[in-house]
Amino acid sequence: MDAADVMDDLSEVLFTSDQIADRIAEVAAQIDADYEGREVLLIGVLNGAVMVMADLQRAMRSHVEMDWMAISSYGSGTQSSGVVRILKDLSVDIEDRHVIVVEDIIDTGLTLSYLMSNLASRNPASLEIMTMFRKPEAAEMDVPVRYVGFEIPNKFVVGVGLDYAGRYRNLKDLAILAPHVYA
Ligand code: 5GP
Repeated sequence: MDAADVMDDLSEVLFTSDQIADRIAEVAAQIDADYEGREVLLIGVLNGAVMVMADLQRAMRSHVEMDWMAISSYGSGTQSSGVVRILKDLSVDIEDRHVIVVEDIIDTGLTLSYLMSNLASRNPASLEIMTMFRKPEAAEMDVPVRYVGFEIPNKFVVGVGLDYAGRYRNLKDLAILAPHVYA
């Protein structure tokens, strides 16, 4: 779906699908160069990272594997709860693997800092983070993020895999959700 299909529900389109595809291609090329000669395992966080994961992998030119985790985050609200729970764990052992965690968005960073300490305890050869979008508060967190697609304002956004109450994940653009939708 395009922004035009749900225009009344959006207050602003921040990035079009073309801009997002271009940026993903840049990040993919960077990862290819940084990991030359080493095979990467991408770990996606369900469900939000599904779209970014699919696009990032296909834009990469080297061999890459993927696996998924599901952790609890927002429910159907728009505020981070701070409650983090593993709902689905990895299927593979990451010991001695070069791991990049692929995130849709980092807001407070609460979800990610929990996830990173959990993954680090499994002894990967290396562990980095790629996020498609990052909000201002997250830029100050102590977990270093190696690859950032776009910095965005502190607004509730949807599209590119990000939902509100299960909807809008299939929106190809990234947009600010109009407050009347969740008020
Ligand atoms: P954090 O723990 O960094 O505050 O939140 C991370 C998770 O909250 C993200 O993976 C995402 O699921 C959700 N989230 C944070 N900000 C937004 C937003 O603006 N829109 C949507 N749809 N989800 C968000």
